[in-house]
Amino acid sequence: MDFAISDELQMLLKKARTFVEQNLYPLEPEFFEQGFAAVEPKLREQRDKVKQQGMWLPQIAKEHGGMGLSLLEHGLFSAEIGRTPLGHFTFNCQAPDSGNMELLLQYASDEQRARYLQPLLDGDIRSCFGMTEPDYPGSNPVWMGTTATKDGDDYVLEGRKWWTTGGDGAAFCVVMAVTAPDAPPHLRASQILVPMDTPGLIIETTTPFMGHRGESWASHSELRFENCRVPQSNRIGPEGAGFLMAQERLGPGRIHHCMRWIGVCERAFELMCQRAVERHISADRPLASKQFVQGWIAESRAEIDAARLMVLHAAWVIDNKGAKAARDDISLIKFTVANTMMRVVDRALQAHGGLGVTDYTPLAMFYRMERAARIYDGTDEVHKLSVAKRILRQYASEDAAR
Ligand SMILES: Cc1cc2nc3c(=O)[nH]c(=O)nc-3n(C[C@H](O)[C@H](O)[C@H](O)COP(=O)(O)OP(=O)(O)OC[C@H]3O[C@@H](n4cnc5c(N)ncnc54)[C@H](O)[C@@H]3O)c2cc1C
Repeated sequence: MDFAISDELQMLLKKARTFVEQNLYPLEPEFFEQGFAAVEPKLREQRDKVKQQGMWLPQIAKEHGGMGLSLLEHGLFSAEIGRTPLGHFTFNCQAPDSGNMELLLQYASDEQRARYLQPLLDGDIRSCFGMTEPDYPGSNPVWMGTTATKDGDDYVLEGRKWWTTGGDGAAFCVVMAVTAPDAPPHLRASQILVPMDTPGLIIETTTPFMGHRGESWASHSELRFENCRVPQSNRIGPEGAGFLMAQERLGPGRIHHCMRWIGVCERAFELMCQRAVERHISADRPLASKQFVQGWIAESRAEIDAARLMVLHAAWVIDNKGAKAARDDISLIKFTVANTMMRVVDRALQAHGGLGVTDYTPLAMFYRMERAARIYDGTDEVHKLSVAKRILRQYASEDAAR
C-alpha cells in the first residue's frame, strides 16, 4: 500500500482548500439562514470559476471532461471540498449526480449518453435516484413495490419512492423498479431513466428533514408513479441488472461520502481548536487550558486520523484490486466514519456553548443534517451485520453466522 502524495497532488489539494475558503465559506451564512435556493445563482458563478481553474468533475476521467483522479486522489480532494456543505455541488461531484454519472458512463446507450449524461457532466441539469420506498424497508432493498410493466414498446411505472435526494428541479430520475416479479430476488429489478416531466410522475412533497424541507439539490422528494409511461429504450443496462448496477455504484460512492465526512470532521476540529484558544473563561484562562477540552481535542484528532487512514486504505484497495476485494473495508468505513463525524461535530458544538447551536457557524447544520449519514447508503446496523457475518464465516459453519 502506497499513500505517497505527489507534489502535484499536494498543490491541487492546496488550491482546492484556498478556493473553498475564499469563495465558498463567505456564502455559508446566507445558505444557513435562507436556504440553498438563495445561494444557488452564486454557486453557479463559482462553478464557472472551478471550470476555469481545471477542478471540474474531480471524480470523472479526463476523456469525459473530468480531472482523471484515482479514487484515492479524489478522496483526498473530496475531504478538502467537504469542509463546506457547498463544496461538492460547486465542483459537480455531489450525490446523487456523481453516482448517476458513473452509472451512465458505464452502462448508458449512445442515445442515453447524449440526452442525459452529457448535460449532467456539463452541469446544465441535475438528476436524482429513486430506490427507497415509504412502504418497504430500504434495509432490504430487493423487496420493493414499484413496478415497471412492459406494454408495447414502453414500460408503465406504478409505485412510490421517497428520500429521492435533489428531486426538486432535477431533469430526470434513475428509478429502480421491478421488471421481473417472478425472477430470483436479485434479478427482479431494472434501472430506468424517467424524465421528471413525464406524465404520471408526481412530486407529492418535499420531505421535511430535521426541521427543514430545503429546496432544489438540497432537498428530498417523495414521488408517485401512476400510469407513468417511458420507452423501454430508457432502461439502463440489461433487464434485471438493477441491483448489480446499484451495488457497483455504492463502492466508490461510499468513499466519496466518507471522505466528504472527513472534511466535515476537519472543519469542526479546526473550529473547536480556534474557539478553545480564543474563548476566555476567566481573565487569564482560555477554554483550551481545561482538560475536558484538551481531551476532546486529542480524542478527535486520533479518531479523525484513524478514520482517514481507513478510508484511504479502502480507496486504495478499490483502485488496485477492485470493489469486490474492498467489500469489508467499504462496510467498515461507512459506519466508522459516520460515527466519528457525529462525535467530533458534537464535541466541537459543545466547545462553542450557545454559539454552537446558532447558525453563525456550520456546526449546527453539520449536527442536524449529517445525522442522516448513519442511515443512507446502508444503515450502520446493516453494514455491521454483513461485515460480521463474513468475518464469522471464517470461524464457523454457514449456519452459525446466519
Ligand atoms: C438524507 C437522506 C438521503 C437519502 N437519499 C436517498 C436517495 O437519493 N435515493 C434513495 O433511493 N434513497 C435515499 N435515502 C434512503 C436511505 O437509503 C434509506 O433511508 C435507508 O436505506 C434505510 O431504509 P429505511 O429508511 O427504509 O429504513 P428501514 O429499512 O425501515 O430500517 C429501519 C431501521 O432498522 C434497522 N434495521 C434494519 N434491518 C435490521 C436488522 N436486520 N437488524 C437490526 N436493525 C436493522 C436499520 O438499520 C434502521 O436503522 C436517503 C435517506 C436519507 C435519510
